[in-house]
Amino acid sequence: MKIQLLPSTFDENGTASRRQHLSCFVVDDRVAIDAGSLAMATTTAQKKQIRDVVLTHAHLDHIAGLPLFIDDLFAGLDAPVRVYCSAEVLETLERDIFNWEIYPRFSELKNKNGASVMQYQPFEAGREFTVKHLRIKSISVNHKVPTVGFIVSDAKTTIALTGDTAEMSDFWQTVNAETNLSALLIECAFPNELEELAENSHHLTPRNLQKELAKFNRKECAIYVVNIKPMYRDEVVKQIEELQIENLQILEVGQVYEW
Ligand SMILES: [Zn+2]
Repeated sequence: MKIQLLPSTFDENGTASRRQHLSCFVVDDRVAIDAGSLAMATTTAQKKQIRDVVLTHAHLDHIAGLPLFIDDLFAGLDAPVRVYCSAEVLETLERDIFNWEIYPRFSELKNKNGASVMQYQPFEAGREFTVKHLRIKSISVNHKVPTVGFIVSDAKTTIALTGDTAEMSDFWQTVNAETNLSALLIECAFPNELEELAENSHHLTPRNLQKELAKFNRKECAIYVVNIKPMYRDEVVKQIEELQIENLQILEVGQVYEW
C-alpha cells in the first residue's frame, strides 16, 4: 500500500513545503482520504484515477479541495465522484458548502454526458465498507465536530489514521485488536505551551501524544506524526523529538510511503 500526504504549498524552488495547511492522503494513487489539497496538488495521473474520496470530518482544511476537484472534472466525468462520509458530515457539506451559495449542489447535477458528478456514500461509525481495493473501518474519535479515524486494509497491509483528535479510548481498543498493523498515522497539532488551545479545539500536543501512545500496544508498529499546525511546526517537531519515542517519525509532506 502506498500513501502520500499531498503538499499544501510549494517552496520557491518548486519542492513541496513541509508545512501542512491542508489534509489529503492519496492511497495507491486512486483513493483520497480527506480532500484539503485534492484539486490543487494531485498529479494528472491521480486526477484521472481518483473518483473515491473518504472524509474524516468537515473542517475546511480537510474538504477545501473537494468542490474544486469536482468542478475541474465536471465536464469529462462519465461516473460520479463518490464521497464517503458520516451522515453528520454529509449534512454539513450540503448545508454549508454545496448549498448553491458557496458552491453548486453537485449531488443534484449531471453533466452533458448525462453522468451524475457527485454521489454520497454515507457510512456508520464502527462499520467496515469497501472503497476500490480497500477495506475501510471508521472509528469515532474526539474532535470539536463529528470526526472519525480509519483502519485501512488492502489484501496485504493494514494501516490506521486517527484524523484530528484529542485523547481517545475507542480508537485504541479497535486498533490494539488489529493483529497486522504496519503503520499508525497520528495527529499532533500544537506545542505543549498551547495545551489550553489544544484542549479547547480537541487536538493533541506532544505531551498528550505521548500519553495517547502509552495506550497503543503494538510497539513494533511504525508511527508517523501528521497534522502539525504550520506556524508551530519547528517547535512541535523539537518537542516530539525530545520524547524519543521508539519507531516514531514525522510524516514528510509529499513523500510516498509504502508498506
Ligand atoms: Zn479538524
